[in-house]
Amino acid sequence: MSEPLVIIGNGMAAARLCEELAQRSLGRYAIAVIGREPELAYNRILLSSVLSGEVPARDTYLKPANWWRDRGVTLCYGAPVTAVDIAARQVTLAGGSKLEFAKLVFATGSRAIRLPVPGAELPGVLTFRDLADVASISRAAHRGTRVVVIGGGLLGIEAAYGLAKAGARVTLVHLMDRLMERQLDARAASMLKRAVEAKGIEVLLDTETARFAGDSRVEAVEFKDGRRIAAEMVVVAVGIKPNAEIAAACGVAVNRGIMVDDRLAASKSDVFAIGECAEHRGVCYGLVEPANEQAHVLAERLAGRDLRYGGSVNATNLKVSGVHVFSAGDFLGAAGTESIVFADAGLRTYKKLVVAGGRLVGAVLYGDTIDAPWYLELMRSGAQIDSFRHDLVFGRALAERRAA
Ligand SMILES: Cc1cc2nc3c(=O)[nH]c(=O)nc-3n(C[C@H](O)[C@H](O)[C@H](O)COP(=O)(O)OP(=O)(O)OC[C@H]3O[C@@H](n4cnc5c(N)ncnc54)[C@H](O)[C@@H]3O)c2cc1C
Repeated sequence: MSEPLVIIGNGMAAARLCEELAQRSLGRYAIAVIGREPELAYNRILLSSVLSGEVPARDTYLKPANWWRDRGVTLCYGAPVTAVDIAARQVTLAGGSKLEFAKLVFATGSRAIRLPVPGAELPGVLTFRDLADVASISRAAHRGTRVVVIGGGLLGIEAAYGLAKAGARVTLVHLMDRLMERQLDARAASMLKRAVEAKGIEVLLDTETARFAGDSRVEAVEFKDGRRIAAEMVVVAVGIKPNAEIAAACGVAVNRGIMVDDRLAASKSDVFAIGECAEHRGVCYGLVEPANEQAHVLAERLAGRDLRYGGSVNATNLKVSGVHVFSAGDFLGAAGTESIVFADAGLRTYKKLVVAGGRLVGAVLYGDTIDAPWYLELMRSGAQIDSFRHDLVFGRALAERRAA
């Protein structure tokens, strides 16, 4: 008899877990995936490209419907789980139907944070997290529409770019003194600002939103310094919050996310969490690669092997056409690290590599990002770089040619 395994959430982590389980232990589990969104799991990373019109929405699906069917996975989508009863080993779906489980995986991801300011609920104030958001933004954005994007992180910049490409007049507003401050140092961030402005996007730094103004829908954004700009639409991209409320309500330990150990196990037996809803060693990751690594470890464990998850290296690529930006690991360089810096203003190229104890521990690349996968590999493996350190900043091809 197959054990009933219920996965809550039909996002990227759930899809990867099913794929990994299908390769290892098909038949051992009767898998049911319950998703709130009314569609097959899709590649959320591509939402920016859908918004900019570079990829049609239908091309984002991770697997066709028959892939799930052929592997015996029961898919319920458009059906949020509303409650979990751990003692009775049952989940309840909206509408009241119930499903038994022997093992339960939370893969509920995150949601976009709404700004806690007056007017945040006005029509025309939107977030950027799922296909429904992209449809709402696209419906409201026309050539010449006045749009304010709040948040100068990766998502805000990608939203601003997508909207500008669609012909909207976009102002990007950021609270901090530089764009993508969690991924870039000051120099890379100022190069990025110039590139964003060259796309026709106005950038306001050090600017704090006070309220959204309007009667029946948003008409303007007002800032703490008294400035006000007209807006027919606002896209808020100021961060994410793990979807952990249902786990907390059924007694599973939750801090910011659902707390898991190196086995990806939550505080109740046979309950696990992966992806953005999970908090491992105090970290909630907001990226796909950690979710994939967690899915891999959990699939191995569910197949009976004793693999452990030790954490992931954070790495980010900005997806704005013609603007190549990569950041990973300790890009600022903590005490005790050394930085190797290469800059060529004429080529609009900047590279900063952070080294500690003979290993690469962080990188920021602007312009030339061709060696990003190599640097990431060096960081993940913890390989010693002393023997080719003098060539490191010039990339893999040179370092390997000289070593040969
Ligand atoms: C515009 C955009 C661009 C991005 N770009 C990048 C990038 O370049 N690189 C990168 O690494 N990451 C990127 N990300 C982040 C990446 O998409 C996420 O890290 C990844 O999707 C996390 O996977 P997940 O399965 O944990 O969460 P999700 O993919 O969000 O899936 C969770 C699913 O669970 C569902 N759910 C929640 N609660 C319930 C419930 N109670 N019942 C049923 N279903 C529920 C949600 O509706 C959702 O469908 C981007 C995100 C966005 C929004």
